[in-house]
Amino acid sequence: MVDVVDCVVIGAGVVGLAVARELAFAGREVLVLEAQDAIGTGTSSRNSEVIHAGIYYPQGSLKAQLCVQGKEMLYQYCAERGIAHQRCGKLIVATSEGQRAKLGSIAQHAAANGVNDLVLLTRDEARAMEPALECVAALYSPSTGIVDSHGLMLALQGDLENAGGMVVFNSPLAHAQCDALVDGHKGILLTAQDGTQLLAQTVVNAAGLWAPDLARRFEGLAPEHIPVAHYAKGNYFTLSGKAPFSHLIYPVPEAAGLGVHLTLDLGGQAKFGPDVQWVQSADDLLVDPLRSEVFYDEVRRYWPGLQSGALAAGYAGIRPKISGPGEPAADFVIQDASTHGVAGLVHLFGIESPGLTSCMAIGKAVAQRLQ
Ligand SMILES: Cc1cc2nc3c(=O)[nH]c(=O)nc-3n(C[C@H](O)[C@H](O)[C@H](O)COP(=O)(O)OP(=O)(O)OC[C@H]3O[C@@H](n4cnc5c(N)ncnc54)[C@H](O)[C@@H]3O)c2cc1C
Repeated sequence: MVDVVDCVVIGAGVVGLAVARELAFAGREVLVLEAQDAIGTGTSSRNSEVIHAGIYYPQGSLKAQLCVQGKEMLYQYCAERGIAHQRCGKLIVATSEGQRAKLGSIAQHAAANGVNDLVLLTRDEARAMEPALECVAALYSPSTGIVDSHGLMLALQGDLENAGGMVVFNSPLAHAQCDALVDGHKGILLTAQDGTQLLAQTVVNAAGLWAPDLARRFEGLAPEHIPVAHYAKGNYFTLSGKAPFSHLIYPVPEAAGLGVHLTLDLGGQAKFGPDVQWVQSADDLLVDPLRSEVFYDEVRRYWPGLQSGALAAGYAGIRPKISGPGEPAADFVIQDASTHGVAGLVHLFGIESPGLTSCMAIGKAVAQRLQ
């Protein structure tokens, strides 16, 4: 017996839930298949919970567009739904004369992305905001903030369910057959690990780190458009005791990440990270305490007052990258029939940071493509 459903979203992370909510609001019947027994157990609960302003991404990229758009949507949604968040602002700090000039080019780049609120600060102005900070100059981003990502996901799930959709847990998708015909109905035939089958008109692959591997299990889909998954682990170290900062503090960025930055949670607790460690597996989530040595060195460039022994190994998240070490960072990929030729199928590949910030804008973009 094969049930026929309108839309199936694979993955109940923040992106899958936002997509499912948007499709349900558009009047579609929506089922979310989630491999685990709860929402948001993947990358969505292993990040910095920062609402990014949209400063660094290449002009015109999906990351730039969806981050800037998603940030506004997210602030509005959090305010409407009472989701804990704070527009705390961030400082991007130059700690050497060589980095000072980069602040101006970062501000210009941000303005090209539509982020026009950055303020260049002298050392004294920055230290007036954060007396424990050491720097030669800084850029202040007032629209950067933090959000309770789990509260956000619960609100998205609640909206989905109120609109008639549902999340089905413990249901890993094992296989899919494109262009199937069952009892006179055409669609994509989905088979869960326990053998349950569904025929769907629309399928959105929002499986995060596992999205490329899952795409390879779609029979009838040409493999040449499926990217190779790369895993860039980001380790965090937490600060014992209270941090003397009320803004997020970011160094001028390096190659694959944004540098070892200081972020705050909504309780004011500080953590440092994520760093960049390329790994072979999406399950490699243990934090090696020995990595703290590098953290002490990097953090003391902007916070010389960091005491030895104050950092404890925290948690790690893995960036779902589709570009490897040394390659230019890839953009978000929202891949539909115009690329792979299968009507009703959308794959989301490479939804790394700023995926949390962009989730609602990604939801809208996917729903528009499926209209
Ligand atoms: C270290 C780090 C820091 C970050 N910091 C930020 C930040 O501060 N701000 C920001 O905007 N973004 C940040 N991000 C990015 C953000 O966390 C992600 O873009 C976002 O969480 C991705 O959500 P997702 O729903 O696509 O994936 P996930 O949260 O990974 O969800 C995918 C879901 O799919 C499920 N699944 C997988 N395979 C199957 C299957 N076969 N069948 C059914 N279900 C399946 C998984 O169980 C999982 O629940 C960060 C990412 C990392 C790694």
